[in-house]
Amino acid sequence: MAADKPIERVRTVADLRARIGEWRKAGLSVGLVPTMGALHAGHLSLVERSMANTDRTCVTLFVNPTQFGPNEDFSVYPRSEDADAAQLSALGAHLLFAPDTAEMYPEGAVTKVTVPGIGDRLEGAFRPGFFTGVATVVTKLLLQSLPDVAFFGEKDFQQYRVIQRFVADLDIPVRIEACPIVREADGLALSSRNAYLDENERRAAPALFAVLELTSRRIAEGAAAADALEAARHELAAAGFTKVDYVELADAESLEPVSGLDRPARLLAAAWIGKTRLIDNVAVG
Ligand code: AMP
Repeated sequence: MAADKPIERVRTVADLRARIGEWRKAGLSVGLVPTMGALHAGHLSLVERSMANTDRTCVTLFVNPTQFGPNEDFSVYPRSEDADAAQLSALGAHLLFAPDTAEMYPEGAVTKVTVPGIGDRLEGAFRPGFFTGVATVVTKLLLQSLPDVAFFGEKDFQQYRVIQRFVADLDIPVRIEACPIVREADGLALSSRNAYLDENERRAAPALFAVLELTSRRIAEGAAAADALEAARHELAAAGFTKVDYVELADAESLEPVSGLDRPARLLAAAWIGKTRLIDNVAVG
């Protein structure tokens, strides 16, 4: 079998812009897939979607220090650039932008993008500064590459809505597209952080999705949201989750808490198994 053509890698904004500029001159459309690497089938589904919808796909790989809190897992976050590049080469993706921290945040850089309201709730409440880190780095990646479309996963549903919000507010001329959550056969949403789970924890982890699905069904069938959410917390604890940060029913756009289904709603949760924090979400109704 012929070896895959290795994906081209660039590490500077100047080289990124030069390559994308050539594509632009040739009249080609561009898709961007921002990631923190340790690529799995969830990430690859975004790459495939981009490749099906645009002429050239650029994947970014940057473990963004500014979106990790002081006690979070930045130093141990899985890093596997060569394996990631091999997976992207096998798909035929066109460009990998893998800058270092000094390239993304040169000395003296202080400007931040903050998204009040939607960025303060749920993940924002439990991970102070997280969405400012995300919004700042994604703004930079979008402006560095100026793609036609950028692809994000519904796995991080609130992040997707936060990105849509600041892209509209800042008139960034990029279309934001969301892709469905890719799951293991037992329902666990694929995540780079699943690698932290030991055997017992991995066995308990699919309960997060199972409880969300059950809760979504109960609310859709008329259960009071407050009761259903309370039951979900207990069921997660019974399934082996050691701490539940939140299980919330939220407006599917603003992520404001809601108690009924008069507008499209999303059920979102974050919970810990031991030292690992998992998030997941499902549509309701
Ligand atoms: P990350 O590397 O975790 O920052 O994720 C990069 C992108 O991949 C984000 O848009 C995520 O929402 C998306 N993603 C991560 N896991 C999944 C999954 N299981 N299914 C679909 N998209 C995902």
